[in-house]
Amino acid sequence: MTAITTNLQKIQSNIAITAGKYGRDPSDIRLVAVSKRHSDSSILEAMAAGQTLFGESYIQEAAEKHRQLSETPAEFHFIGHLQTNKAKIAAALFTMIESVDRYKLAKELQKHLEKLNKSMKILIQVNIGRDANKSGVLPEETEDLLRQIKQLSRLQIRGLMTIPPYSTELEETAGYFRDLKELGKIMQEKQLIPADHPMELSMGMSQDYEIAIREGATLIRIGTAIFGERPPLLHPG
Ligand SMILES: *Cc1c(COP(=O)(O)O)cnc(C)c1O
Repeated sequence: MTAITTNLQKIQSNIAITAGKYGRDPSDIRLVAVSKRHSDSSILEAMAAGQTLFGESYIQEAAEKHRQLSETPAEFHFIGHLQTNKAKIAAALFTMIESVDRYKLAKELQKHLEKLNKSMKILIQVNIGRDANKSGVLPEETEDLLRQIKQLSRLQIRGLMTIPPYSTELEETAGYFRDLKELGKIMQEKQLIPADHPMELSMGMSQDYEIAIREGATLIRIGTAIFGERPPLLHPG
């Protein structure tokens, strides 16, 4: 067995154990294997172990992987900062964009999705901890952004995503996850996140996914704990 296989099995069983511990159904929690900066062969190893959902942060790198793996069941979520001028490529490549954080980007995605005659599941990335170094809409601006994006017919709003400020205190991180869930609930009550699908909350990475499961994550994004340390950028941008 490869290290990737062993890591994936460990995480899958830990997701089930953690879900059980906190009274959650493990099938409500999907693992996004964050393969950014890892090779196609690492992705293929993960696929041999049953993983089909991957997270990518760099458009050019993701496009290359998409080409190489087009004959496989691999599907990709975009989780990085998306430049507006890359919206066209993004519209074609991903099954979900987890990091929509501004109207200009949403409008550009809408335009390209119309041309492609398709729609796209999206999450709104919220800068829940008001971290100056992080992307994401501020919590108090989320409602206005959702009202605008709701008018864009090709974008299917499924929930919220966040990367909390770095902290070594898990309970501090948990507080940010609770804030995201609370914000999501309020947006759902205002019917800005449609109720026809369960709301997605994408939160939790290698260091804090167990606490994220406790706080209600439906998507957890794990890279290092599956693939090991990331090599340097393959294709910057
Ligand atoms: C890289 C990345 C991850 C994965 O982080 P790990 O600590 O390697 O698990 C998760 N989410 C986002 C948005 C990322 O960019």
